This record gives sequence, C-alpha cells and structure tokens, in this order.
Amino acid sequence: MQRILIVEDEKEMANGLKDILEFEGYEVVTAENGKEGLQAISRKEPDCIILDLMLPDLSGYEVCEQIRRKLTTPILMLTARSQDHDKIRGFKVGADDYLTKPFSVGELLARVMALLRRHTKYSPEADLVRVGSSIVDVQHFTVRRGRREHSMSHYEAELFKLLYSHANQPVTRDEILDRVWGTDKFPTNRTVDNFIVKLRKKIEDDYRNPKHILTIYGVGYKLSP
Ligand code: CA
Repeated sequence: MQRILIVEDEKEMANGLKDILEFEGYEVVTAENGKEGLQAISRKEPDCIILDLMLPDLSGYEVCEQIRRKLTTPILMLTARSQDHDKIRGFKVGADDYLTKPFSVGELLARVMALLRRHTKYSPEADLVRVGSSIVDVQHFTVRRGRREHSMSHYEAELFKLLYSHANQPVTRDEILDRVWGTDKFPTNRTVDNFIVKLRKKIEDDYRNPKHILTIYGVGYKLSP
C-alpha cells in the first residue's frame, strides 16, 4: 500500500484530503506543521508528500528544501490563489507539482497518481527492476530483455543503481564519478560516457536511440524507467 503524508495545519482541509485518499486505497499520515511533517517523513517514509505552503512554523518552502537535502520523494505543494506567483519558487526548492486551492478531488487524485507513477523508489532489497522491456536484476548483476540475458560489471551495476535511485532526475557526471568510482580512482568524464553506452546496449531496445537512459546535455544523465 502506498503511503501519503499530508502536511497541513487547517484541520478541515487535512481531514478532507485524508478521507478522499483513504477511500482511494492509500495509507494516509497527517502532520499539522512543518516540524511534525519532517519527523513524520523520517519515521513513516511516505511515498508522496502533500505539502501546504502556509504552515504555522516553517513555510512550505523551508520544509521542501529540508526534504530535498536527503530525499527525492515526490512533493505536491498546495498554494492559495494569492500565492500563485510563488509557484516558481516552489519548483526551485524542489516541489514536483502544485495545486491551487480550491481544487477538485479529481484533480488532486490525478496529480497524486501521476507523481507516484513517475517516481520509482529504488530500494536495495528490490531484486528486479523493470526498465522499458528490460528486467534488471541488481542483486545478480544481470539484464534480461526478451530471451537475451546480459551480465553487468560491478561499475555498470553501481552506475545503474545510482541512476535508478534518482529516477527521472538528472545526475551530473561529477556525481557519477564521485559516487560510482570514488575519489581514489581517476576515471574521466569519457569513462562515464563509455559505461553509459555499455548500459544502453544491455538495457535499451536500440542503444543509438535511447528511451530510458537519457543524456541531459551539459549536465549528465537521467534514467526514465
Ligand atoms: Ca495552511
């Protein structure tokens, strides 16, 4: 069951959202202010966070910033009509989407479902990860596509895991070098590019026309499962 955290001080709004989401089969946790929200995030590990911008202690921006220092959990920010011009700031601090109050139940559910769908949380316990038509077994370092099975090297698997843990978000070449190769080795950006090609050959249907391991020009790479 997917768990959703609602951070909202207005009781009526919070309870209304909770009822709607529970009715749809989600598990719902609520928090009345920013600090409680941050605590609930580390204790309950929600799959999606609905965060009101106006909170009694920290602002929604501050909460969002603090979450983004550690986690990629999708955040749907709620704003009032008068705060519409602040949406850009919301995106800058890491919100994934926003909804302006008042909103319809249908719109809320559609946004939440889209966020949950887009965000695939990598967990090291998950053995099999589906990317397009490939199934990656991160425990046994293999990729299966149709009847073919490829094995992955240690660095290929580590690179895949890093990209997958940031699914749908760009990861810079520097971060890849740092996290996959570490500081004691001296690979170059070219090394990263070569390993990306190796992964694409195993995972993509057509590695020259990748659909899942995407180049973000001037930045790095992004995995879109
Ligand atoms: Ca509020």
